[in-house]
Amino acid sequence: MPRPELVRVEHEGVVFWTDEVLATQGIRVAFSERSGGVSSPPFGSLNLAAHVGDDQSLVDENRSRFMSAVGLADLRDRLITADQVHGVTLGTVDTGDAGRGARATESMIPGASSPVPATDGLVTTASNLPLMLFFADCVPVVLAVTDPVRGIAIVHAGWRGALERIPEKGVEALLAATGARASQVRAYVGPHIGGCCYKVSTTLVARFNSSFDKIAAVDDRLDLASAVKSSLRSAGLAEAQIAELGSCTYDSVDRFFSYRASNVTGRHGALAVITKE
Ligand SMILES: [Zn+2]
Repeated sequence: MPRPELVRVEHEGVVFWTDEVLATQGIRVAFSERSGGVSSPPFGSLNLAAHVGDDQSLVDENRSRFMSAVGLADLRDRLITADQVHGVTLGTVDTGDAGRGARATESMIPGASSPVPATDGLVTTASNLPLMLFFADCVPVVLAVTDPVRGIAIVHAGWRGALERIPEKGVEALLAATGARASQVRAYVGPHIGGCCYKVSTTLVARFNSSFDKIAAVDDRLDLASAVKSSLRSAGLAEAQIAELGSCTYDSVDRFFSYRASNVTGRHGALAVITKE
């Protein structure tokens, strides 16, 4: 299995990070940056989330632009999103769920397709079913398996999810769905607030230090990525199976959204789709 690797790609002003080798094997992953969209400040410009107060028609246009840039224009209306609640519930979705929460403009219409409720992780083995979750500082983790059958998972890990080991639960769910072994999983850790900038209480840092190994936190700074990677190692992954984007959202507000930097802001996305049967 090739080592996972994230590279930066720009297409018509939309910038995203992806693994081109994984794409040749039938799974496309993508982490968006915030440029190339149509939203105005404080959502400028590629805000992908419906719940932040942005104009929903602009959110839909941004989602279309992102998916087109990634080469998924024909799957635009099959997109599945979730209402994220900082929990540890994962939802396994299938072809019948195609399009749930695909359109932000439908989110207020009673009876219309709505996102998967109260879920911080999505898993599927179905092809042509793009999954997307939304982030501004929390850690996006995308998991992919291509053998014996293709499968993907995306989890949303803020401090609560990281502490309750949602990355590990994501791996477990993906292995259960695909019959793969932990050594066959490729993991991608997307953009998030770094240990350089994530100020929390010393009590919380102590809780992390007692729950995880190799946490580099000092005093009142929390290194969520270390906790996430520790959680992935607990699930059986080796360091070589994990690729990291490595940017701090708080330090890079020109490229990513950061909730800590400004409470009213947009969300970038983590996207994954199986493109081959
Ligand atoms: Zn930072």
